[in-house]
Formats: sequence, C-alpha cells, structure tokens
Amino acid sequence: MSREADPANAPETRWAWVEIDRRAIRSNTRAFKNLLDRSTKLMCVVKADAYGHGAVQCAKAMIASGADAFGVATVDEGIRLRQAGLSKPIVILAEPPIESAPLCAEFDLEPAAWHEDFALALGEAAAASGKVARYHVPVDTGMTRTGLWPADVVAFREAVSWHRGIECAGTFTHFATADVPRDWDFELQQQRFADTIRAIEDAGMDPGLVHCDNTAAMLLAPSTRCDMVRVGIGLYGLHPARSTEPLIDLRPAMSVRARITRVVEPPTGAGVSYGMTYRLSRANIQIATVPIGYADGYSRTLSNRAEVLVGGMRCRQVGNVCMDQLMFAVEVNRAREFGKTEPVHHGQVVTLMGEDGDQAISADELARLRGTINYEVTCDFGLRLEKVFL
Ligand SMILES: *Cc1c(COP(=O)(O)O)cnc(C)c1O
Repeated sequence: MSREADPANAPETRWAWVEIDRRAIRSNTRAFKNLLDRSTKLMCVVKADAYGHGAVQCAKAMIASGADAFGVATVDEGIRLRQAGLSKPIVILAEPPIESAPLCAEFDLEPAAWHEDFALALGEAAAASGKVARYHVPVDTGMTRTGLWPADVVAFREAVSWHRGIECAGTFTHFATADVPRDWDFELQQQRFADTIRAIEDAGMDPGLVHCDNTAAMLLAPSTRCDMVRVGIGLYGLHPARSTEPLIDLRPAMSVRARITRVVEPPTGAGVSYGMTYRLSRANIQIATVPIGYADGYSRTLSNRAEVLVGGMRCRQVGNVCMDQLMFAVEVNRAREFGKTEPVHHGQVVTLMGEDGDQAISADELARLRGTINYEVTCDFGLRLEKVFL
C-alpha cells in the first residue's frame, strides 16, 4: 500500500513531499542486527537528519529493532535526539568546537576528541555538574580527515587521563576505501588500527569500545566488526556499492512524490522552462508541472535527463529544473496505448523517486544521472520537503 502513489499522503500545504516507510527502516535495522554476533553492538548513524529521512522518527524505529547507539555529526543533532527522549548512547563522530563542551556534558553526548584542550574542557564541564563525560578517540589510519595519527594516540590518552571528569568510551577509525573489496589501502588501514589498539593496551590503558566499520566494511569484511559497527546508508535501504548488493536484503525507505498542478498540450515548437532547452518537436505532447524543484533536492543537473513515474508509466523530465517546479512530457498516443483514456490530470500523483506500479526510480538511478552517490540524493531530498511517515 505504502509503495503506491496515494494522493491522500500529500501534506495539506504542499503538493510535494517525501514518504518515509518506517517498516523498511525497521526491517533494514533488523537485517543488520541479525548479521551481528551478540557481542557486537549496532551504532545507527543518523547524522544529517538520518541522511534526509528524519532523525527522530528513524531513531525511534531503529530502537525498536535493536539499535544500541546512535552516531551524529553535530552537537545540535545530538541534542535534538535527547530532547525527543532518546536515552541510548549518542556519539558525535567528529570533535565539535571547544565552546560546545558544556552542552556535550549536559546532554550526555559522547564526542570524538583529538585535542587535549577539548577533552579537558569536556572534563571540566562534566565535573562541574558531578558527571563523568565519555569521549571516543578517532585514529587517522589513512583517511586524512579527522582524529589522531596512530603514533600520537597513546600520548594523547596519557595527557588527559588524569582528569576525573572524562573517561574514554571508545577508540575508532574510518575507512576510505571499504567499498573496494581486497583493497590494499583498506588492509593497510586495518593493520594500522589493530597496531594502535595494541599500543593502547600495551601502555596499560583501556581503548573502550573498538569500532571501525561503516556499512560497506561490515558487509564486505566481517572480520573487522570489533565491538561495534557504525551503519548508516544500509539502514535507509541503500547500498554503499554494487559489491554489497548480494550480501543483504534491503528495502529503500524514501520515496519522493508530487501532485500535478497543471497540464497543457502546447503546439509544436513551444519551448519549456528557463532557456527553452526543450522544445516540442511535434503535437500530441502534454506538458505537466509538479511543484518540486532544485531547492527541494531535485538537482538542476537532472534537467532533460531524468524520468518520472505517473500512473505506472515512465515519462521524460523536460526543460531546466526550476527552484520550485519542474515539468515533464507525456506522449498522448503512448499514454493511450498504455490504456489511459486521459493521459495525465491535475492532482495526479507523480513519483520522482520510489515505486509506482511495476516501475521504480531508485536513488542510485538519480545519483548516476547527477554524477554523485545515493547518499547525497537522499540528503538533498531532506532539505525542504515535508516528510510523511508511513
Ligand atoms: C557516516 C559515517 C558512518 C556511516 O557510513 P555508511 O557508509 O553510511 O554506513 C560511519 N562512521 C563514520 C565516522 C561516519 O562519518
């Protein structure tokens, strides 16, 4: 039912929306949980508003299906989850500004920390309210993005370990090429991480929870799962690479729909949208408008390249995508062959991404056309469209 184009799902104020199928989120979360040993925790990564899917609603669905912890990118994202009543551990995956240390302590967020002054500020803030704040140490094993180089980890731990207001809850790294099977850089990163964990233990310290896997690594290299895995994209039903597709059954959770606001049948030669980059080459073509545009995440780079679904039929998007609208073409005769007496009509539901009848437009299809990855496609659709949770 939820996969059908249902006009009743449209929000009252706007004929364009994102549908989030929480059953898909739950089923994907369980699918990952089922692959893990009992001793391995599942961190659900819900940064960037759960990759555009709505962090609070998704996190609640994930808790019901076995989430042990959550990963976010910013302090604000963490606070929003706490204010919604979530009590599971929340890890901020990169070190936030030192000014935010009191908020991290107040809301029991577990930030990544790689500067001594940040870790000590966190400790001061926590101690002031009688708490012990937890932090995670990221190790830069080759991604060159965040954290400490392996050689500096023990010294960092020793430099902050005197503070009673903090404790190290985990040590982690992030792989740059986990989606490439048997990749040399991936193996080198694994080796450096294992050596770093051993060095921490040899120095007589506890690394806390050891975690390094994203979706791709946990599926392609099960031996690297350690104490916890950090799964993001897979929870939303999307694959990080073609190579993971045979390894787990996932259901995409996001669909993007709109209702037709206008249908016309212009004469041959008429132009469509800014710059008139599309012109009708003949008669019997309807041009339908839907109120969704690049400000909603339907990238302008899709102009004249993508397709949309209407009544189970694929139609070409035509003309430049505008900020708040886009147009598509319906060949009247083809639609008639398709068994439609009236090809398309005002108010009819159009699927920009998702399933309609036996057709589907995937985030991967749009990503390929845009020259990007499915992650960016769903994040972008989260920007302005109202989310309807099914
Ligand atoms: C985003 C992120 C993840 C999740 O990656 P996916 O590919 O979406 O599974 C895991 N760890 C870190 C540090 C991240 O930034």
